[in-house]
Amino acid sequence: MTYPNLLDRFLTYVKVNTRSDEHSTTTPSTQSQVDFATNVLIPEMKRVGLQNVYYLPNGFAIGTLPANDPSLTRKIGFISHMDTADFNAEGVNPQVIENYDGGVIELGNSGFKLDPADFKSLEKYPGQTLITTDGTTLLGADDKSGIAEIMTAIEYLTAHPEIKHCEIRVGFGPDEEIGVGANKFDADDFDVDFAYTVDGGPLGELQYETFSAAGSEVHFQGRNVHPGTAKGQMVNALQLAIDFHNQLPEKDRPELTEGYQGFYHLMDVTGSVEEARASYIIRDFEKDAFEARKEAMQSIADKMNQELGSDRVTLNLTDQYYNMKEVIEKDMTPITIAKAVMEDLGITPIIEPIRGGTDGSKISFMGIPTPNIFAGGENMHGRFEYVSLQTMERAVDTIIGIVAYKD
Ligand SMILES: [Zn+2]
Repeated sequence: MTYPNLLDRFLTYVKVNTRSDEHSTTTPSTQSQVDFATNVLIPEMKRVGLQNVYYLPNGFAIGTLPANDPSLTRKIGFISHMDTADFNAEGVNPQVIENYDGGVIELGNSGFKLDPADFKSLEKYPGQTLITTDGTTLLGADDKSGIAEIMTAIEYLTAHPEIKHCEIRVGFGPDEEIGVGANKFDADDFDVDFAYTVDGGPLGELQYETFSAAGSEVHFQGRNVHPGTAKGQMVNALQLAIDFHNQLPEKDRPELTEGYQGFYHLMDVTGSVEEARASYIIRDFEKDAFEARKEAMQSIADKMNQELGSDRVTLNLTDQYYNMKEVIEKDMTPITIAKAVMEDLGITPIIEPIRGGTDGSKISFMGIPTPNIFAGGENMHGRFEYVSLQTMERAVDTIIGIVAYKD
């Protein structure tokens, strides 16, 4: 299907800077997200026919489209995030390339270009309408394409009451990119049987496996003495950090892993002889392997402390999110439906694990199974981000198909 308002709607959204800020202590992290929700999204949610539209203190704009067929008793949610990633988002000036010829796309006058030699994904899109940046900002298709698609699906359903659908709940939330937006999600208020985040990439993505994730802050306490008389006295905290790191499995690093392989990722080291800190993230898909990774870190610290004769290495482990598969596989209905709908539309479902998390990772563990479906974006989080209008249209088709699905 084509949807006349989809492109303009998307362009309107991406021009608003809604970058989140990981150093902020407010919810949402930036005022621009509050303004976008209250000034742009909420009026439009009402205009497209959503009822009971409201804005929650957790930064979520919520609305409902009631069922128009009593035999469709499910309640299905659709969720997208308003914020954009950690890259310049001021003055987004999208370029619309109609009937893409398969060649190099100049990104404005920036000197940057989208070249099929660098970005293989472009090979999928000759003949389609691509929306790109002008090379100075990101685009924000992640995840304003998702918002535009959900909004457009609701608009279409309101205009076409002959399409019978179940109750739909819509939630547009903040701060996904800084990993905290879903922490305050109100699952009791949202009250659906299951939901989808519309936050995936290319056509056909359907994802219900994510990493399980933890963060580990390691503190090393040294003893600083003059290096000339250091023998047998000095304990160099930086050396402790190096020794600790060298005991982790050498090959379990992001740059050496893929697919279902997990890793330890050293993010940051700071310090001096007296004391040092190292920040890690830990990722794995399987629960046992995830727990084993955390235990391995702890046992390295324990062993070092034993050898040092005092507790110089201390570990602060925090779980961040868990693989949603554990929740979803208890009832695969949301996957079965999305898969059937895509196949019916001639879209090949791409079911692969996400080497990351989604808002759905947290929301699933709050009791609402929430897999992720494609929104269309490519090369997310930077100036090379782009999206195909035709893929966005297929995402709208998919949303409509899901809510109209009959068992
Ligand atoms: Zn996203």
